[in-house]
Amino acid sequence: MRIAFIGLGNMGAPMAANLAKAGHDVAGYDPVAPLPKGVLPACSGALAAAGADVVITMLPDGSILRAVAAAVIPAMKEAAVFCDCSTVDVESARAVAAKAQAAGLGALDAPVSGGVVGATNGTLTFMVGGSEAAFATMQPLFDIMGQKAVLCGGAGAGQSAKLCNNMILGVTMIATCEAFVLADRLGLERQKLFDVVSTSSGYSWVMNAYCPAPGVGPKSPADNGYRPGFASELMLKDLRLGQQAAAGVDADTPMGALAAEIYRRFVEEEAGRGTDFSAMLPRFEHRRRGS
Ligand code: NAD
Repeated sequence: MRIAFIGLGNMGAPMAANLAKAGHDVAGYDPVAPLPKGVLPACSGALAAAGADVVITMLPDGSILRAVAAAVIPAMKEAAVFCDCSTVDVESARAVAAKAQAAGLGALDAPVSGGVVGATNGTLTFMVGGSEAAFATMQPLFDIMGQKAVLCGGAGAGQSAKLCNNMILGVTMIATCEAFVLADRLGLERQKLFDVVSTSSGYSWVMNAYCPAPGVGPKSPADNGYRPGFASELMLKDLRLGQQAAAGVDADTPMGALAAEIYRRFVEEEAGRGTDFSAMLPRFEHRRRGS
């Protein structure tokens, strides 16, 4: 397939490289980042997109996505697919899909889970919104870049699934970290708490697979000085998208709101920026009740 890949940062570069390695003809554009191996240079997003069967974007946010889509969609050939893999607000995802469809294109929002490691190893999970036809076009490419792709519904359904998942993840991380600190103060060993919770009703992916306590459970960023992993500022971004979406549809999400506020403080006022989101545990260690 002829593929245009726009946005070659931490995630986009390895994803594009994997597509090129699999034998696809990939043209890439990013105003800043260097081209990954096997990807041909293009002078703009529109030039990369001209003649491509599929355009994939991996960009920082919804307003950049809207600007890129406005420039790229008119350059795309008929019936090609515009597939955005960035994490953006549901409204931007839907607006871009509507624009693409009006131009006779297929459109998908396909945010990912799995981080830079998943992008590098081709083991991402794609949560996808859009038509079955566009999904079928992208499926072989999802199979190269990832291990699983789930068509969640129409336009915006992928972003909706992503922000719901990450709201659960952020809330669960905070609850797990505060439980470890409560256990510390009660004189309960962390390993014992892990042994009980990981096989009891409090278990979760956070506790069982990504334990925030160093030396407890399988290897995780906690065992690597809390280097990301999944950075706290990216968790904050996703929690904010969750709150933006909740406000738009009048959904009551008090735990999500509190998680967003705690990560906001952690990233903006404390030492959280640049740490893995599980560094919430040492944050709680240094705090007292009500502080
Ligand atoms: P990044 O900042 O490393 O990459 C974004 C790239 O987009 C940059 O290289 C930037 O130069 C480029 N860009 C900006 N404006 C552009 C334009 N107009 N045209 C072309 N390129 C442009 O970010 P990332 O970590 O690769 O994340 C990308 C997206 O994936 C974000 O939406 C993020 O929330 C999401 N995501 C990231 C992770 C992660 O672990 N890094 C995990 C899941 C999802």
